[in-house]
Amino acid sequence: MINITGKTSLVGLIGWPIEHSLSPKMHNAAFAELGLDWVYVPLPVRPDNLPQAIPGLVALNFVGVNVTVPHKQAVMRYMDELSQSAQTIGAVNTICLRAEGKGKFYGHNTDATGFLNSLLEADCNPQGMRVVVLGAGGAARAVVFALAQAKADSVIVLNRTAQRGAFLVDDLVETFPNNALHFAPLTDESLMALDGQIDLVVNTTSVGMSPHVSSCLWPTNIPMPAQTIFCDLVYNPLETLFLAQARAAGAKTINGLGMLIHQGAAAFECWTGQTAPVAVMRQACLGEVSVR
Ligand code: NAP
Repeated sequence: MINITGKTSLVGLIGWPIEHSLSPKMHNAAFAELGLDWVYVPLPVRPDNLPQAIPGLVALNFVGVNVTVPHKQAVMRYMDELSQSAQTIGAVNTICLRAEGKGKFYGHNTDATGFLNSLLEADCNPQGMRVVVLGAGGAARAVVFALAQAKADSVIVLNRTAQRGAFLVDDLVETFPNNALHFAPLTDESLMALDGQIDLVVNTTSVGMSPHVSSCLWPTNIPMPAQTIFCDLVYNPLETLFLAQARAAGAKTINGLGMLIHQGAAAFECWTGQTAPVAVMRQACLGEVSVR
């Protein structure tokens, strides 16, 4: 239960449904750490209520919100201004309401920054790396954007639905014409063909996420090279079967908690103008996720 009595500034999370989000705990811990009289509340909004909910934020004096599934694309049409990342990724996960503009909506995407910072924090600089991205959904778009901006040597997107994967690559090639971005269908053959030629593999699909913890996209009969780094955007459980298999093969692994924290930190800084207390945010999340 979140107590909002006497709080001076409101932020929240718009999504549907919102059941197990870590964001309220993470942001409220950060506000408390900095002595800010702010509160972060979950705002479950059904898709048909979105047109009323967004202008309603102004009436209710919200300073900003995060946006999650299924509204990340739909909110874009209500924004007065979009950041370059939101525009290119085609999704908004953070909205700032600018007081001086009396309800001017600034739509931003902090997933790409969050992903990149989580890699750097794990001592993994993607510059010059040959990368494979599994999946082509909203999170994959942010990941490919981040990798292209960070000057990865090449990015191959492997997706189950060919049309979606090809569309993602065609779309981002327009923004990054000098980057080597490719698409291939996600099959055992395409995974087998990678054959140790890859520096980093990122799972951006939801496969392996709680409660489906015994699912994994990587077949057990295909070796996971020990010199490749394996990253999973899923953070619950902290170690997915994909990462457990990679660790057992002797590879370095990076879980999705860092991305969650760093995308949250970037949103926090956008709303408050203050440096986010990342260690406190991480601690608040760690108490909520299962190891597996
Ligand atoms: P999305 O837009 O629905 O995309 C889902 C992707 O997963 C699609 O590429 C889909 O392939 C693929 N997929 C799903 N089930 C599959 C299966 N059984 N076999 C093969 N491919 C499958 O979802 P999203 O927004 O990108 O989110 C994806 C995951 O990233 C979620 O688990 C989410 O929690 C996580 N995420 C984490 C963070 C973080 O901060 N750590 C941030 C954002 C997202 P098709 O195109 O073939 O359907």
